[in-house]
Amino acid sequence: MTGMLAGRMLADHYEKVTIVERDQFPVEPGFRKGVPQAPHIHVLLVRGQQLLNELFPGLDAALAEASAPTVNWGTESINVPGGIRLPCFESEMITRTCSRNLLEWHVRRRVAEFTNITMREKCRVEGLVMDPAGERVAGIRVYSGDVGDDGKMATEIWEADLVIDTSGRHSQTPKWMQEYGYDAPQETIVNSFLGYATQWYKTPEDFEADWKAILISGRPPDNPRYGGIYPIENNQWIVTLAGIGGIYPPTDDQEAFLGFARQLANPLIYQALNRAEPISPIHGFRNTANRWRHYEKLDRWPTNFIVMGDAFCTFNPAYGQGMTVSALSAVALDHHLRTHRSVDAPRLQKDLARASKNVWRLATGEDLRWETTEADASALGFTTRLAHRYVEKVRLVYQSNSNAARIFFEIAHLIRPPAQLFHPTLLGGVLKQVLSDLIGRKTEQA
Ligand SMILES: Cc1cc2nc3c(=O)[nH]c(=O)nc-3n(C[C@H](O)[C@H](O)[C@H](O)COP(=O)(O)OP(=O)(O)OC[C@H]3O[C@@H](n4cnc5c(N)ncnc54)[C@H](O)[C@@H]3O)c2cc1C
Repeated sequence: MTGMLAGRMLADHYEKVTIVERDQFPVEPGFRKGVPQAPHIHVLLVRGQQLLNELFPGLDAALAEASAPTVNWGTESINVPGGIRLPCFESEMITRTCSRNLLEWHVRRRVAEFTNITMREKCRVEGLVMDPAGERVAGIRVYSGDVGDDGKMATEIWEADLVIDTSGRHSQTPKWMQEYGYDAPQETIVNSFLGYATQWYKTPEDFEADWKAILISGRPPDNPRYGGIYPIENNQWIVTLAGIGGIYPPTDDQEAFLGFARQLANPLIYQALNRAEPISPIHGFRNTANRWRHYEKLDRWPTNFIVMGDAFCTFNPAYGQGMTVSALSAVALDHHLRTHRSVDAPRLQKDLARASKNVWRLATGEDLRWETTEADASALGFTTRLAHRYVEKVRLVYQSNSNAARIFFEIAHLIRPPAQLFHPTLLGGVLKQVLSDLIGRKTEQA
């Protein structure tokens, strides 16, 4: 996704853009090996949808034609963030919900329409090629499936003025750069040990409810179970169950899967599943740590090489931010090129860090509420603890205040910055609570 969005932006600035992918693209929307996360719920946040629709006019209509439904997140969904249910709220926060496969396929179709973009499938990048001085990436080394005259796998060198690594969580850039004497980046890892189990269901024909989607997340310390029903194209639901702190949902037994759903904070998912027919195996996924490779902090960096998307900074997927960050990063890339006319790689890497920073704080801040989360000791400092206490109070405010619920949800969907957690409606509610707690304590003492 990051590769396609970056490619679309580069098409406005470069004569020729090549997107290199090791998989063969499916002819119809479908799974492929390189995106093992595709079976799982892929929420596109409101901010991400806005950006994608700007970048690809006609995308929404194409998804609608492919029967992707819409969800109004204020009135047509049950949202239980942090274990506390949001009341319904008047909202224009409507997104089109679909599988990752469908979204990716339609984005790819639109990217392919750019005459200066070429997509090279079944080509695996094997490394970087550096200029003799070791200061500039001259191109990439690619294996495109050919066998050389000597019977060995032949790699080709493709030259480029700019190279961007968007190869995802398993990016080899640290190793490739070390081969040329560069330092590996320092990494920040915040691992909440969240595990996913996902199954697709046919939406029951006679299904009637006052919701179209349900998203429940756990509440520390007692309820580490997450769950969601996400409506997608062709009258299907993607149902994801997840557990934090190593409480992994089962992937090998249908009854046990339902048993896990039964233990969620809200019974609606379990009740709905009992009426629905599963149409897929149960898919698991456990590699969910937040990981930031700090390329933006390295002292030495080649002049024309960038790392973007999950290859740079990857988030606990439970908060549905990854694809939106891909879009935000693509916008930052475009802005950089418009401002500077060419790439200043160390500076652009810093711009990309800024585009990820708020999301990183939201995702890791939430994960650090769990004692089972592993992170560097400095991650859980005084400010983070204070923020946890504050957000806990905010949750009590939004529980009974639909305007506060809307503001909170807009922050989660990245259409308001996290600083809006101090919006007068939220801050006022928190202060009121603190005051009434104090008065309550004083009265008790008296
Ligand atoms: C379980 C799970 C659930 C998620 N849920 C959501 C969600 O609800 N909402 C959301 O926004 N995000 C979600 N994400 C995150 C989202 O999938 C990613 O953030 C998003 O796809 C952007 O990633 P990317 O494009 O940078 O990398 P990827 O999506 O990993 O893509 C990398 C691509 O590079 C290719 N590649 C890798 N190595 C090579 C090589 N050497 N040569 C050539 N090609 C190569 C791969 O085949 C792949 O196509 C989820 C992630 C996971 C794991």
